[in-house]
Amino acid sequence: MMNSTRIGTTKVMLLFMSTLIGAGTIALGSINPTLAAAADFGPSNPFFAPSALPFQAPPFDKIKDEDFQPAIEAGMAQQQAEIQSIANNLDAPTFDNTIVALEKSGQLLARATAAFDGVTGANTNDTLQKVRTIEAPKLAAQDDFIYLNTKLFARVAAIYKQRATLKLDPEALRLVEYDYDKFVHAGANLSEADKTELKKLNEEESSLQDTFINKLLDATKEGAFVTTDKAALAGFSEARIAAAAQAAQSRQFDAFVIPLQNTTQQPDLVSLSNRDTRQTIFGRSWNRTERGDANDTRDTIARLAQLRAQKAKLLGFSSFAAWKLEDQMAKTPQAAVQFMDAIVPAATAKAASEAKDNQAVIDAQKGGFQLQPWDWTFYAEQVRKARYDLDDAQVKPYFELNNVLQNGVFYAANQLYGITFKERHDIPVYQADVRVFEVSDVNGKPLALFYCDYFKRDNKNGGAWMSNFVGQSHLLGTLPVVYNVANFSKPAAGEPALISFTDVITMFHEFGHALHGMFADTEYPTLSGTATARDFVEFPSQFNEHWASDPVVFAHYAKHYKTGALMPEELVARLRKSATFNKGYDMTELLAAAELDIQWHSLPPTAPLQKPDEFEKQALDKTHLNVSYVPPRYRSTYFAHIWGGEYSAGYYAYLWTEMLADDAFQWFVEHGGLTRANGDRFRQMVLSRGNTEDLGKMYDSWRGAPPNTKAMLKYRGLEESTSPK
Ligand SMILES: [Zn+2]
Repeated sequence: MMNSTRIGTTKVMLLFMSTLIGAGTIALGSINPTLAAAADFGPSNPFFAPSALPFQAPPFDKIKDEDFQPAIEAGMAQQQAEIQSIANNLDAPTFDNTIVALEKSGQLLARATAAFDGVTGANTNDTLQKVRTIEAPKLAAQDDFIYLNTKLFARVAAIYKQRATLKLDPEALRLVEYDYDKFVHAGANLSEADKTELKKLNEEESSLQDTFINKLLDATKEGAFVTTDKAALAGFSEARIAAAAQAAQSRQFDAFVIPLQNTTQQPDLVSLSNRDTRQTIFGRSWNRTERGDANDTRDTIARLAQLRAQKAKLLGFSSFAAWKLEDQMAKTPQAAVQFMDAIVPAATAKAASEAKDNQAVIDAQKGGFQLQPWDWTFYAEQVRKARYDLDDAQVKPYFELNNVLQNGVFYAANQLYGITFKERHDIPVYQADVRVFEVSDVNGKPLALFYCDYFKRDNKNGGAWMSNFVGQSHLLGTLPVVYNVANFSKPAAGEPALISFTDVITMFHEFGHALHGMFADTEYPTLSGTATARDFVEFPSQFNEHWASDPVVFAHYAKHYKTGALMPEELVARLRKSATFNKGYDMTELLAAAELDIQWHSLPPTAPLQKPDEFEKQALDKTHLNVSYVPPRYRSTYFAHIWGGEYSAGYYAYLWTEMLADDAFQWFVEHGGLTRANGDRFRQMVLSRGNTEDLGKMYDSWRGAPPNTKAMLKYRGLEESTSPK
């Protein structure tokens, strides 16, 4: 659920969105603004001018695969020319000729990349993938072209220094500070000598990240479990055994192969009754990158942690985490750590009581052993079946997709915010399954276009996500065009699409992102909609998930697709109870991974190279998360989010936004729940505001208090296990 949700990645127009600037090159003016393919670009290209369709919707009926590359290249060249002309302007820097001019730059590029990202994510082909491979590094370099432009930074800095005297409105002031901070964050303020040093560290970091990713890919592949003994797979269905045989064939083995997943726990352990097999698979997962062979990542991550600390020192921070969190809602590593420390006791206590339940099953079956991590899911599944006996086949007939969408997702939004939805069949789409709705505001005025593309296809990325084809901005005169993508099973022609409750939650989740995009009401595109901090952006989506279970909303959509009958009370009760199942384990494994991340990135610049195994053990001991039966969701040496991805010193954000979502929902509960008054207030003070003010202050002034973890623990069933019985 977490890796698969992606949001806002298409917003190249939001120049200042990338959270990790300068991981690549920091060479000033190293990019040549002339780009060859721009020659193929002219008025016949559908991206040449803004779309004439309603809401400037992409003209998918006219866009051909071969239109993207020339439009993207021309868009980059155009933006580079715009940036040069802002930087080289002979007039003294002003808010309008610099900050606003930056906001207006890159519109062609934004049009082309938004459509390109949408289509390559959800409906790609070989031609588009080739274009992607060629353009991705160029697009990454486009960011450096802006942030490492010395003349441009001098202008931004001059405006920043005078900001108090410029009589700017609050949003404009926020934008000036935001832009300035982004430049400084990337190292624009450093001396030439320090810039050279930073460039060296960035290059080493970038190459070590590559090394890490490549080693991990190979290690994960080689970590696959291989056996010729069918008995080792006892517990598997025939279909699963056939899949294991097929996986072996594709690797040219005459055997059965179970490939490793990226997490510590391996999903197949839930059904494997052979304990030796479970232990072997778990061991291969746990040690995948610590075998002392070419794929061992221990040296790589030790050096990565050290150089990131050195980089932070150069930029004026006490640790990499301090540098990374400066522009986040939490602001400091201490705030993130305090937040996590406070939930550790409840999470581990609940995990301990779940462990007891699992041990009881082992003992009742005369297992004669102590519960180990490789036993957990196998026995937890038996506990779950005994307690809730919830079968997907029983509940799915109550969740017909279109009904869930119209009478659940849209209904909740209508009750809270007064907005209405009308399907449009005249807006071109990139694939026949995509549906388009026009969203009208309370006063009947057009608010947004919403596309949904819910069915799985072979040429679609996995998971579910939201993004924009067009971002909202008063400055640019644009209204939001937003889309949700998912991977639900497509029914046979003429059959209804019956989905699981997990899928229902996914629909509400992604629509929460969509609302954040559709309610955007800001002047400047950089601060609009979902373009917020990593530890805030999942808040509106996780918040919206709550309405799926609200009794009024639930009763409005959970109806049998044939008879229209409400879901029987007894089934509803089982569904509800099962929602808190195994939450102690889930939260403990997340906390352990998040604590590892923040501790690795809190090392001081003077720290020597660490020994990863010792460091990991000490880090978990120190935070009381060294729990024998709950290993971290990712171990240090295969934690791709933090060493190879964007989540370095940011893994805590998953838990942080859950706190916000639950605390916010609790406010609704305390104020009458699903009402227009509550919805309007939330929309006005949070959902429409994008990143136009300090996110902590925005939250506190809406909530009337800072967020706390009470509701988060309550909704996960974690509070009863800590209170005395
Ligand atoms: Zn999300």
